[in-house]
Amino acid sequence: MLIQRAGQFKKMLGQMDDQGQVSYSLVLGEDRLELNALIGKSISLHLNGVIHCLACNRSVKKSYQQGYCFPCTQTLAQCDICILRPELCHYRKGTCREPSWGESHCLKSHFIYLANSSGIKVGITRGTNIPTRWIDQGASQALPILEVKERYMSGLVEVLFKSEVADKTNWRKMLQGNPESVDLLALRDQLFAKLQPELHKLDAQFNGQALTYLPEAKVLEFHYPVVEYPTSIKKADFDEQGVLNATLLGIKGQYWLFDRGVMNMRNLLGQHLSVEAVL
Ligand SMILES: [Zn+2]
Repeated sequence: MLIQRAGQFKKMLGQMDDQGQVSYSLVLGEDRLELNALIGKSISLHLNGVIHCLACNRSVKKSYQQGYCFPCTQTLAQCDICILRPELCHYRKGTCREPSWGESHCLKSHFIYLANSSGIKVGITRGTNIPTRWIDQGASQALPILEVKERYMSGLVEVLFKSEVADKTNWRKMLQGNPESVDLLALRDQLFAKLQPELHKLDAQFNGQALTYLPEAKVLEFHYPVVEYPTSIKKADFDEQGVLNATLLGIKGQYWLFDRGVMNMRNLLGQHLSVEAVL
């Protein structure tokens, strides 16, 4: 059976079932393509050079920040520096680029978590992005450890934890296999013990209302659809005609693992992409 889909690449969605098995789908225009069925198959990708901004839909030659036109990167709150560094949230100074977006996305409950992707890291996420945030990062294990009332506080807590654990994923290592399993509950307790005075101070700054501990939280484990991990990591690329023919060996995080290299699909966001495979 020949599968053929084409349209603007809007996002790749990751989901998990009760056993932690991850499945992915691709949103192309109005279509959705289930990807797990393509793993192990030879597929053909084609870019025709057409790019539309994910936010305003204008046609552009080049996109920025994974799918936006340049003007949108300068005006949208979701493209502001405080999205990468929430401790710089400036909503309360009255300078949020889009206060109503800030209210619906940043002034909401956020979670601080520990995850194991290429090693242990700390991160933050909105409640509504659990567990997709961890799947997007290719985490093998994750544990929410604290809940806070808004994004700004989550940034302050994350900064504290960054003194003890990394906040970045080593994507090359993440794509070379699964990390050794770690006792995240024990690690959480050690970190809390170590950071208790600072956490207490932070909570006091917000009248004891900032932090909610999550002693009942459970460790989630994720299993990615990968038949074979690459032993060395190189990037797969399109040829001059915008074509890439390769066998898809798996998907982990936002990366497609081909027999001839890996590709961060986020870099294609906003582009017109066509996918062909024979099942
Ligand atoms: Zn735009």
